Amino acid sequence: MKNPGIPDRLHQLLPGVSRVYRNYDIQQKKWLTDHPQIRVRCGPGCGYCCNMSVRVNLLEAIMIRENAGERGVAKAVKAGKRILDFARGYHGSEAGYFYAFRLMLKRCSFLARGDRCLIHPFRPLSCREILSGLPGRYCGAEAMENSTAIALRRQRYRLPAGIFRGSPFVFPLIEAGHSFEKQLDARLTDELGLSIRGEMNFLLRLLDQDEFARLLGKGIPGEICAFFEQNQYPRVLVEVT
Ligand code: SF4
Repeated sequence: MKNPGIPDRLHQLLPGVSRVYRNYDIQQKKWLTDHPQIRVRCGPGCGYCCNMSVRVNLLEAIMIRENAGERGVAKAVKAGKRILDFARGYHGSEAGYFYAFRLMLKRCSFLARGDRCLIHPFRPLSCREILSGLPGRYCGAEAMENSTAIALRRQRYRLPAGIFRGSPFVFPLIEAGHSFEKQLDARLTDELGLSIRGEMNFLLRLLDQDEFARLLGKGIPGEICAFFEQNQYPRVLVEVT
């Protein structure tokens, strides 16, 4: 679903985003081949981690907006409003926010019936980076809260401590993803003079707003920064660098 207000020069960067995804996927596959002792348990129909705060670059949000279909985007835009209200009303620690977020969201806007990801070919880097070495039920927010259960499972499944670091997720793959995220940030900065990274639903909501699309069209970094300063969006939702 294309918003005519979003400038073409940003749309023209999307093939580059696909290339970054492809390169990350190749590196991930190679890493897993080089580490045959790591058994990944994620698969189609498993959506236990799909209630996290998914942070994306603005270009990734534009990619999703173009490919998710009208209903999917409308659902995310609606969730973006709920998430903004939640973030504004939250006054605890940042770590606590991300745990509370999972309990509040319950399901990603793009998690369809049968726990399939509606945007799987276009899912952002944050989703590609998360692979689990434990059965899905240990990836849910409630299981994460019960770290004793995860520790016991880690022993039972003999998960190497350095790679899983107290969680079900494979950390080297998350860390490898950071350099690919930086590539996306750099592409946006080259085009716009700044980079915008934030929660997926929230950025989709922003892209739906004519005022924001118009600012992107003008492409004046000072005006874009002023927009974010005026609105005082919480840092857990969006960062402009
Ligand atoms: S975008 Fe897809 S993979 Fe990512 S959290 Fe949502 S449903 Fe899960």
